[in-house]
Amino acid sequence: MPDPKGFLTTARELPRRRPVDVRIQDWHEVYEDFGTEHVRAQAGRCMDCGIPFCHNGCPLGNLIPEWNDLVRRDDWQVAIDRLHATNNFPEFTGRLCPAPCEASCVLGINPSDTTGAVAIKQVEVEIIDRAFAEGWVTPQPPMVRAGTSVAVVGSGPAGLAAAQQLTRAGHDVTVFERADRIGGLLRYGIPEFKMEKRHLERRLEQMRAEGTRFVTSCDVGVDLPAERLRTSYDAVLLAGGATVGRDLPAPGRELAGIHLAMEYLPPSNRVQEGDLAATPITAEGKRVVIIGGGDTGADCLGTAHRQGARSVHQLEILPAPPAERDGSTPWPTWPLMMRAGSAHEEGGERVFAVNTERFLGDDAGRVRAIALHEVAMVEGRFERVEGSEWELPCELVLLAMGFTGAQREGLLTDLSVDIDDRGNVARDHGWQTTVPGVFVAGDMGRGQSLIVWAIAEGRAAAAAVDAHLSGHSILPRPVGPTTMALR
Ligand SMILES: Cc1cc2nc3c(=O)[nH]c(=O)nc-3n(C[C@H](O)[C@H](O)[C@H](O)COP(=O)(O)OP(=O)(O)OC[C@H]3O[C@@H](n4cnc5c(N)ncnc54)[C@H](O)[C@@H]3O)c2cc1C
Ligand code: SF4
Repeated sequence: MPDPKGFLTTARELPRRRPVDVRIQDWHEVYEDFGTEHVRAQAGRCMDCGIPFCHNGCPLGNLIPEWNDLVRRDDWQVAIDRLHATNNFPEFTGRLCPAPCEASCVLGINPSDTTGAVAIKQVEVEIIDRAFAEGWVTPQPPMVRAGTSVAVVGSGPAGLAAAQQLTRAGHDVTVFERADRIGGLLRYGIPEFKMEKRHLERRLEQMRAEGTRFVTSCDVGVDLPAERLRTSYDAVLLAGGATVGRDLPAPGRELAGIHLAMEYLPPSNRVQEGDLAATPITAEGKRVVIIGGGDTGADCLGTAHRQGARSVHQLEILPAPPAERDGSTPWPTWPLMMRAGSAHEEGGERVFAVNTERFLGDDAGRVRAIALHEVAMVEGRFERVEGSEWELPCELVLLAMGFTGAQREGLLTDLSVDIDDRGNVARDHGWQTTVPGVFVAGDMGRGQSLIVWAIAEGRAAAAAVDAHLSGHSILPRPVGPTTMALR
């Protein structure tokens, strides 16, 4: 029974962010501690709706009203059991998810931030942090071993979720990763100020203790023939991500000082890991232009400020979205609206409805400016606004315009799997590629998406692999390969 008046007596509240001038001096996470009583009060705002729309927003099917009420009643140990029942890694989603559950929370029908949606994501992260602190997150090795083996290629959230599910179901699981550390984009894409890597390390410790094996610095299809995996393992699950960054083939692209976001972010993360004393691509003292207004661009923005950029502009070809939920995306769908993450609060200028015409260089072949013009949307197409051209001086340009799909050469050509029209690895309703016994999950099959979807896909694909090897499976299947976000 929830608190019948919680949502009437308590306003929505989130933890404070550390002051900007303090936090950009370091790489730690930006939020201050919230405090147990604050979390309980926030959880107590949940109405335990007859139809909990928050469930429809979350691809994992998280049991949100159940753990909200458990937290309200101070029963944290049962709360983490209910949370882990649907989500292998709440410490990742609790920090990094854009929270489609909150967008579809019934309390979110009222758009005001003080009376708005239940702070579901904050309750989630507080449950798992408390569980780790109390020592409740322990290895869950299988009672019985199945005698079957699975190779998982890729160690992002999809590969890790699948590996944990399959290990716990009794299969011998080996995760192959071409990078030198495990974690995929959680490791080398997402900056430390969004999620400190210690959260990843302690989860990997649990997985190793459960029996999952990890092989790093092994590019399957290059260092190890993919065929060897097929003959040495009973099933193969591909979870290699959508790693090919969208480029901008405008004149001058060859100039020095223009980089894809995923050339810029990983070395910065390596500095935090202690591998490098300094990053080879730094924003220090530079005027920086980020092309792409999304989350990857925001990660570049926060990184550039911490490196000491002189100025930062973030460009977006789309017009500025409205301040409140746009009428075209009514509740409970994911709202089209202006979003300002912590990185935007730290400085920089956002410029909307602009297109890059060309990059301009100096005599040494380095970028010195970009030539821009404004665009207007006319009958669904971008049209140049005549007379709106201008130059924006810069010494560093970062391209953060999304990803075009999975890398073909190496693994995928070696396996000869089919690719679908959207550039992703084709799969049937049972997560299987066109090569028998080879399955696919995460961004490699869905295209660039979110961590919560990668975990949901990893869990569901694990159930399919388990059924393929054992004849049946009781593992959960939270989503299907063609399930779409609520819209
Ligand atoms: C900069 C950035 C920030 C993001 N921030 C957020 C966020 O805040 N919240 C959110 O929800 N989503 C975010 N995303 C999206 C999210 O990170 C991805 O959707 C998610 O990581 C996809 O998981 P995955 O397991 O499918 O693939 P990935 O995380 O991409 O992992 C794939 C792994 O496979 C490895 N691999 C590929 N090919 C091979 C091979 N042949 N052999 C061995 N290993 C191989 C790769 O090295 C990589 O480690 C962000 C994305 C980027 C780029
Ligand atoms: S929709 Fe919101 S108020 Fe209703 S059960 Fe879910 S979290 Fe609670």
